[in-house]
Amino acid sequence: MIIAIDGPAGSGKSSVAKIIAGKLQFRHINTGAMYRAVALQAGRLSRDLGDEEAIAEVALNQSIQFVPGPKGQTVVVDGEDVTRLLRSKTVDQDAAIVASLGKVREILVAKQRDMGKSGSIVMEGRDIGTVVFPQAERKFFLDATPEERGKRRFQELQAKNQEIDVDTIVEQIRQRDEKDRNREVSPLIRAEDAIYIDTTNFKLEEVVDQILESIEQVPIKIINRK
Ligand code: C5P
Repeated sequence: MIIAIDGPAGSGKSSVAKIIAGKLQFRHINTGAMYRAVALQAGRLSRDLGDEEAIAEVALNQSIQFVPGPKGQTVVVDGEDVTRLLRSKTVDQDAAIVASLGKVREILVAKQRDMGKSGSIVMEGRDIGTVVFPQAERKFFLDATPEERGKRRFQELQAKNQEIDVDTIVEQIRQRDEKDRNREVSPLIRAEDAIYIDTTNFKLEEVVDQILESIEQVPIKIINRK
């Protein structure tokens, strides 16, 4: 069974996906981390982010694993735990740029489909219900106002003692949204059959409950996945 959770930055996808996957004993795949890992490696290798071939090569040669652990999931790239490095401001911005390259998306989408072949998963991203798994049994689209999403990111950074003001974060989120929604390849849009949840005024647990309820209510369609 595949549960697809899409939505913009700060909509709560990762937190929700982590809890749902834990409760259902499904694997949790954070596809944003895959675009982030490509951006991180491209930066380390001083690759030009506009050079599609060079960035696609980085994506192709990279091995990425999501390893469950006591403190949550870690992201291991070519044997190195890069979980913390993926959350830097530079990676935030560079990931949105590499994600607009068609060849990079082709490579990462193929890897994501492969991950869906073995066992049940909760996969979160921007194009899971539209492109990666249009046949997913369950699709959700999470959203929230840019102000609320900025506030959440601000609190996350504050907890890590990083100094930044909330207005700057809201502006960065708006810019990233703009890139994600307006790019030519696989822009961020809600799949027609995805359940839309505006999380602005809900607590995390309330969103999780809504999703779990709707997963249990609708009978699972048996779909021939080719
Ligand atoms: O979700 P997260 O903020 O970690 O994603 C980082 C970037 O990767 C996003 O800004 C978006 O451009 C890109 N992304 C994407 N498609 C996905 C997941 C993430 O384009 N399925």
